[in-house]
Amino acid sequence: MTDVENVIIIGSGPAGYTSALYTARANLRPLVIEGYAWGGLLQQTTDVENYPGFPEGILGPELMQRFREQAERFGARLLTDEAASVRLSRDVGGVHQVVAGEREHYARSVILAMGAQHKKLGVPGEDELAGRGVSYCATCDAAFFKGATTLIVGGGDSAMEEAIFLAKFAKHVTIVHRRDEFRASKIMFDRARSHENIDLLTPYRVKELKASENGSLATAVLEQTESGDERELEISGAFIAIGHEPQSAIVAGQVELDEKGYAVVQGRSTRTNLPGVFAAGDLVDHTYRQAITAAGSGCQAALDAEWYLRDTPGVPAPEGMPEGDLAESQWIHAGGA
Ligand code: NAP
Repeated sequence: MTDVENVIIIGSGPAGYTSALYTARANLRPLVIEGYAWGGLLQQTTDVENYPGFPEGILGPELMQRFREQAERFGARLLTDEAASVRLSRDVGGVHQVVAGEREHYARSVILAMGAQHKKLGVPGEDELAGRGVSYCATCDAAFFKGATTLIVGGGDSAMEEAIFLAKFAKHVTIVHRRDEFRASKIMFDRARSHENIDLLTPYRVKELKASENGSLATAVLEQTESGDERELEISGAFIAIGHEPQSAIVAGQVELDEKGYAVVQGRSTRTNLPGVFAAGDLVDHTYRQAITAAGSGCQAALDAEWYLRDTPGVPAPEGMPEGDLAESQWIHAGGA
């Protein structure tokens, strides 16, 4: 078998690029399968005001560009292609296979950092009208809705952020939420509420999205969750901001996942149930889900992979790295299983 990599990283959000940076600086020459839409969910945001080190804030896409450049600077190799499938070894010291593009790639260790994607409502009309009025990203699509009447679905920070951004373009934004209480932080909720052209409608759920004769979104059918009463809202844009789900499909059946599909890791480490396979970022974390926490766990995954390569019998230590003792090192560095 030729070209067995030290480490393949799948994913290119803050977790993926941070693990690329750290493994590159450990001379492991990581191969990053970054996908076509590299940069993860931060590519779809505007101002990031809570990433330490940027007191004036920074645009999400610019932040990710910087992550990427920093990883490349130390020798991370980036493959702008999707990982189509993986075959992960169950053996300590085994070699894992990742298929991306036309090629099969092999590696002694794999870091999974595929992140999470936008959740769908699952109502009639949603799929058919995607791109024709239904969107999951106001920051990407709001400019197409100048002067339009629109709605946002959701009651969390994402819904507030999307509504505030959309309100700069749309004539009117109605935030539709299924409960009277909002999950959003007070600061985001107050910011959204202070806009003249943003309204709240609760407790309502979207029952159906209907098209006009020309095939684009025209009407949202809404149901009052307590009384069951229905009403229709004439809109040309509906933005769904109801959270995220992990992108774990390609490892399902191989890596242990929880009931929601998030990768399960051992203790405070990033080790999965498979030796040499590590998971980081939003693929693991349904609690914090911040760029800074994802970056932190990408760093942990890189260190876990580095120690695994150094310490595992059957996996040759990368050049310049001394062999060590597996049990002792895992206990000391990763908190034990
Ligand atoms: P979230 O906090 O999980 O909120 C999701 C919202 O969507 C909830 O209000 C939920 O309703 C609703 N929802 C879920 N499934 C639904 C369905 N099938 N139909 C209708 N409504 C549904 O997700 P998020 O807003 O994406 O935020 C995720 C994390 O990122 C949070 O920690 C958040 O603070 C953070 N974040 C921060 C910022 C910022 O500070 N700038 C911006 C965006 C996100 P229920 O409340 O009834 O469950």
